[in-house]
Amino acid sequence: MARQYGVGVDFGGTKLLGGVVDLATGEVIATAKKKTDPSEGPKAVLDRLDEVVSSAIKSAGVKPSTIKGIGVGIAGQVDAAAGVMLAAPNLSASVVNLPIATFLREKFDVPSALRNDVQIAAAGEMAFGAGRDCPSFVCCFVGTGVGGAVVQNGILLTGAGGSAGEIGHLVVDAGGRLCGCGGHGHLEAYSSRTAITKSLLGDLKRGRPSILRELLPEISPDAPGGTAIRSGILAKAVDADDELTVETIHEAGRYLGLGLASVLNLLNPARIVLGGGVIEAVDLLFDVATNHCLREALPTAANSVEIVRAELGDYSGVVGAALIGASAG
Ligand SMILES: [Zn+2]
Repeated sequence: MARQYGVGVDFGGTKLLGGVVDLATGEVIATAKKKTDPSEGPKAVLDRLDEVVSSAIKSAGVKPSTIKGIGVGIAGQVDAAAGVMLAAPNLSASVVNLPIATFLREKFDVPSALRNDVQIAAAGEMAFGAGRDCPSFVCCFVGTGVGGAVVQNGILLTGAGGSAGEIGHLVVDAGGRLCGCGGHGHLEAYSSRTAITKSLLGDLKRGRPSILRELLPEISPDAPGGTAIRSGILAKAVDADDELTVETIHEAGRYLGLGLASVLNLLNPARIVLGGGVIEAVDLLFDVATNHCLREALPTAANSVEIVRAELGDYSGVVGAALIGASAG
């Protein structure tokens, strides 16, 4: 039988990454990338999506008839049946209620689906990555935000409204920091790259010495957005034993561990798969979070879990999105 492909798009806080994926092997055979701009309107968002999908298909050089579907994973809460975003704390407001799945279905004439980005990454890890041989696991991805997904007996839990697994919005500090969603004390407000950056910029503004001033000479402590410090820069500062960065990562990791301990106590999963840009770049965050998680969880839950890294790296979202898109028909 001829090879069959799906197109997956990972719609993140800073970029759109699209890829053509071999549905039998999970191999990503071509990719395309565009920056996302939080200030752009709905039409520009759809145009950019169109460009990423078209250019990935073009560079893959496969026949359109072999494309079985298009899936999009996006950071936020999604109405999967309608294929629209319900809320996206870390993205442009113009994506909310945008009919993304319908747009792609009509434009490319193939089945299309829209899902939460970590639910989609979990589908990728389940088929071809760190969840391959494990029917019940939890994914937690740390990037612009903190996302999560729960797989139970091979099935992705979506919940009554589609928002199951939102680990980033677990309360880890009663009445604590304001979260991007409007709630208080949520994990994402302590452990995401956005939160780590805000905390570092605040300390730099107060005059704390740090190698970050040399690594990022152009950075202003007044920089807007709170996402100006990339994961790779955090990793360099940790490798250089920068006291401020190490201390900040320890704090972020402690909260992440506390959130994950609650997940262990609630679900008693066999495996936790940690991924996302910050986890991939900064080993210290993985180590601190793992230690705190195992220390705070109930012994039974801690003793029966294995905490591992995601295996598909940057492509877990693309692979999972392609699989879900292709099965949407
Ligand atoms: Zn929140």
